[in-house]
Amino acid sequence: MIYDVIVVGAGASGMISAIVAAEKASSVLIIEQKEKAGKKILATGNGKCNYTNMDQTLDCYRSDDSTFVKKVLSNFDNHKTLEFFNRLGIYPKNRDGYIYPNSQQAASIVSVLLMECERLKINIIYNEKVTSITKPDYTITTLNPDMVRSIYQAKKVILATGGCASPKLGSDGSGYDLAKSFGHRIIKPLPALVSLKSPNKFCKTVSGVRLQAQVKAFVDSKILANEKGEIIFTDYGISGIPIMQLSRFVSRALDDNRKAYLTLDFFYQGSHDELYSLLLSRCNNNPDKTLEQMMIGLFNHKLNRVLIKETGLDITRPCSKVKKSDIDNLSKKIKNFIIRINSTNSFDFAQVTTGGIPVTEIDPMTMESKKKRGLYLTGELIDVDGTCGGYNLQWAWSTGYIAGSNCNK
Ligand SMILES: Cc1cc2nc3c(=O)[nH]c(=O)nc-3n(C[C@H](O)[C@H](O)[C@H](O)COP(=O)(O)OP(=O)(O)OC[C@H]3O[C@@H](n4cnc5c(N)ncnc54)[C@H](O)[C@@H]3O)c2cc1C
Repeated sequence: MIYDVIVVGAGASGMISAIVAAEKASSVLIIEQKEKAGKKILATGNGKCNYTNMDQTLDCYRSDDSTFVKKVLSNFDNHKTLEFFNRLGIYPKNRDGYIYPNSQQAASIVSVLLMECERLKINIIYNEKVTSITKPDYTITTLNPDMVRSIYQAKKVILATGGCASPKLGSDGSGYDLAKSFGHRIIKPLPALVSLKSPNKFCKTVSGVRLQAQVKAFVDSKILANEKGEIIFTDYGISGIPIMQLSRFVSRALDDNRKAYLTLDFFYQGSHDELYSLLLSRCNNNPDKTLEQMMIGLFNHKLNRVLIKETGLDITRPCSKVKKSDIDNLSKKIKNFIIRINSTNSFDFAQVTTGGIPVTEIDPMTMESKKKRGLYLTGELIDVDGTCGGYNLQWAWSTGYIAGSNCNK
């Protein structure tokens, strides 16, 4: 049998593309290498699935060409995503613009997608990994876990294999080799939305400490990104939403052998002069307290010690003996705390991939490959990565929808 459309990957972009394709095509098959569909969707938003966001600006999607992103999103935007899932049964819950299913269960999203696949008689084959797709006729070879080979044929193929992030959930990077076999270039895939590793020993000392900070990422002394929010120190370095948001810039810079560091401002609500005055008055009012005691109540006590020590001061020094220049230096340290970064956490811990198929090789109006007619590319496989907040799934829905609605025209 020759299928009208074969979709490789039953993830977010694969399932939506198959559903849309099946509205016109008479035979649609999805081939999935895992034992079930949407394993990654189940892990999204801590199991609650932040499936889109009401605040859509182009800077939420990182790419070499924002006009490509704009064209894709204007074809199928967050409102269309809400409509699509509403039709399938998902009642949205809006938390400050971040959209979740009202059930607060990612499993609801997978269930409605699977029910729709069933209704549209889309065939899904599990536990088969696509290992090659031949040109020009789309003969697809798969291997199952027992290394048994199967062959399928299609008129059109949608490659929806995802990137390299969290490979245990299915996306192991094999889609890049399939795309390469059609002449696509691959921009080196690197971990993004990931925590960062530091050689600085103080990270271990303050491991577990969480606090609000303004974070700036510098590469070769040039600022690349600026975020605010809750950071978390870990044994190996630093994590938290602001760190994940800027990680893709650091990831690329480190891969280019450039030096990266972050500056943390733990008192971004006030200026240096305001902080200096605050510390000075705390010292003047408590001459008998030690520097460490004077800091109690400002920041976590473990961090207070690190801040004082990193300024080169003695935590036991009485406030009466602290010079104004020491307070000035301590204020500078609190507002400009440098943490060196030597690597990112691995793909195992990354939420998304930066890199992939260059957008210049895809038609944004159809998601068809410019290298091969009849081949469509979707989701994280493409060199576009979203920030935290529902943007990566929105990218998967948009690209999947466009591919599905154009592959059978
Ligand atoms: C822990 C975690 C939390 C996240 N939370 C959010 C969130 O809340 N909001 C958000 O917007 N984004 C979130 N993301 C990102 C988002 O889940 C992904 O960007 C999105 O799922 C990508 O969709 P996709 O269709 O491109 O790939 P995937 O959803 O990864 O699907 C790819 C599918 O293809 C299959 N496959 C791969 N290669 C082959 C092959 N050779 N043969 C057969 N099958 C194959 C895989 O098994 C997989 O099922 C999160 C990611 C992670 C890891």
